[in-house]
Amino acid sequence: MPTSTRRRFLRQSTAAASALLLAPTLIACGRNNTASTGESPAPASPPPGEERKVGVAILGLGGYARGQIAPALQLTQHCELRGIITGSPDKIPEWQRKYAIRDENVYSYDTMEGIADNDDIDVIYVITPTATHRDFAVRAAATGKHVWCEKPMAMTPEECQDIIDAANRANVKLSIGYRMLHEPNTRKLIQLTKDKVYGDLTSAHSYAGYAGNPPPADYWRGQRDMGGGALYDMGVYTVNGLRYGTQMSPTAVVKAMQRRQERPNGVDLTTTYTLRYANGMTAEGKTSVVEDYNELHIEAAKGWYEVQPMQPYQGVKGKTSDGKILGPPVPNQQSIQMDDDALAILNDTEVLAPGTMGKADIAVIRAIIESAETGREVTI
Ligand code: NDP
Repeated sequence: MPTSTRRRFLRQSTAAASALLLAPTLIACGRNNTASTGESPAPASPPPGEERKVGVAILGLGGYARGQIAPALQLTQHCELRGIITGSPDKIPEWQRKYAIRDENVYSYDTMEGIADNDDIDVIYVITPTATHRDFAVRAAATGKHVWCEKPMAMTPEECQDIIDAANRANVKLSIGYRMLHEPNTRKLIQLTKDKVYGDLTSAHSYAGYAGNPPPADYWRGQRDMGGGALYDMGVYTVNGLRYGTQMSPTAVVKAMQRRQERPNGVDLTTTYTLRYANGMTAEGKTSVVEDYNELHIEAAKGWYEVQPMQPYQGVKGKTSDGKILGPPVPNQQSIQMDDDALAILNDTEVLAPGTMGKADIAVIRAIIESAETGREVTI
């Protein structure tokens, strides 16, 4: 889409979202945005007699939507891809053709408020650059549709809270696209921690990086103010991994270091950090867009367990110090994620990755940045 058109769409999105943020609270009765460590059980099955599928509209037809989410939706049992919301008119014909999307279910960022009256759509899935999540997710919630929002939830805890408030006002479910929380081998690792199978935890480390090229300055992943960089993009997996792997929230960033691109608005290419917990335990995190590593490792009094690799789309493998294999990798975790989230809507149960969890992780990310910039320990 031409830059001028994109700018126009964005200006309008921002203006509309700001107006919504100023609107008085209508209903303060949200019910699902409470858990913080992925403690809810995965929803089991639809309620008796409920065979309805959840209609999903994807907002933002970029690489992840096109390459992973739309194909994964075809593998779900409880979801149907029925709508698109896009700033790129040129993408519309292919999406309509490929997924049989009806004309009346196609929206632009200008017209998306009209989705409020569209009974085909139950959920808006926000899959756009991180710095745009707040505005799009707040607008999506205001239509009265449930909201799925990609990771990282937003740029700051305050922005995350705006999304949570908007979902609560509209009494809709809000789920963050933390696919690992739905991945069966990761869930087995979580259960080992919950059941203390290897005793009390003593330390942990969480590494997620890939050896790519440094992101370019003219793409949002290479722009700090758009949420680009290793820590937001990949590091959020390490922060969230330590949350579900330890079932604890960190209380401080002990120290952190970032290697950043040396240009205006340049991003971090690699970030390392140490977290501390209320019980005194520490954990190490490392993330990169130019170096390869991928594992979540938990040390406990009577042994260790890990997932390695910890967050690829396919092939998460888990093992323990006494030789147990956690289970075979699953073919498509995004379809499991969306089915879980659809069942939470159909059954009116809690989601596995609520907004409060997304917000808590962004608070850790901000503390890591502050610690790297000041060279000091930062309380979370
Ligand atoms: P892309 O750059 O490939 O696509 C982003 C899309 O967002 C664009 O194509 C565009 O869609 C839309 N958009 C809306 N506003 C803007 C804007 N101001 N600038 C640029 N694009 C805009 O990004 P990805 O699809 O890779 O990532 C999108 C989100 O998904 C990010 O938050 C990312 O972190 C997350 N993600 C999650 C993954 C996971 O495993 N859970 C994996 C990859 C990404 P349109 O042209 O239709 O308007």
